[in-house]
Amino acid sequence: MSGVTEPIIHVENLHRIYHLGGEDIHAVNAVTLDVFPGQMTAIVGRSGSGKTTLLNLIAGLDDPTEGEVWVDGAHLGEMDQEARLALRRERIGFVFQTFGLLPLLTAEENVGVPLRMRGLPRPERQQRIAEALAWVGLSERARHRPYELSGGEQQRVALARALATHPKLILADEPTGQLDSQTGRRILDLLRRFVDEQHITVVIVSHDPQVMEEADVVHELRDGRLLETRLKELAG
Ligand code: ADP
Ligand code: MG
Repeated sequence: MSGVTEPIIHVENLHRIYHLGGEDIHAVNAVTLDVFPGQMTAIVGRSGSGKTTLLNLIAGLDDPTEGEVWVDGAHLGEMDQEARLALRRERIGFVFQTFGLLPLLTAEENVGVPLRMRGLPRPERQQRIAEALAWVGLSERARHRPYELSGGEQQRVALARALATHPKLILADEPTGQLDSQTGRRILDLLRRFVDEQHITVVIVSHDPQVMEEADVVHELRDGRLLETRLKELAG
């Protein structure tokens, strides 16, 4: 029978314990969850609840103390650093609270960085950059450097940079954390359009209430443990 959707992320009994000055911090504690394609999934919880640690484990940027992660069919625990890097470059876009733009590069140069790393030829890079900047409404700001842009515009450049790689999955860590609520709303609307119109799966870790309202699925963490999972109620 067809129609059964496979998760794009599967996390199985994941633990991450940090050892710090003789103390053990159980930052992620026995977390099991699935993320399904074509959805906006939020992982929420207050500061220190383990959100960033969990996201880094999903991205293969950190190794779990125990447990397994699969991303788009790839079993991270069986992959070396190079294979994980390739997975991130080819299939995952990243968005951070602090935008992560290179300060000396213009908006279009920033969007082009991951395309250069992939070795795409210049005409294709230029086309993708133009498309992505248009998509986030920043064609007019292509030659601006980050300090010549507002916070919301900088985050839109970061979204364009992720979009230009044509990822299957975007991982966003507190993407609205440094923005006022109206600007944050605009960023969430764009992320929603990534899901609905570009068919990108979006995972956001955040403690912003707007993110909880917007997401299709909300996983709540407390002290590293998954407390509950809520599905958005369908309107109508
Ligand atoms: P969140 O993103 O939800 O704010 P984090 O995942 O950053 O939470 O942190 C979870 C817990 O792990 C916190 O208690 C934090 O202090 C601790 N922690 C995070 N990173 C490290 C690290 N590199 N070394 C030691 N402890 C850490
Ligand atoms: Mg964090």
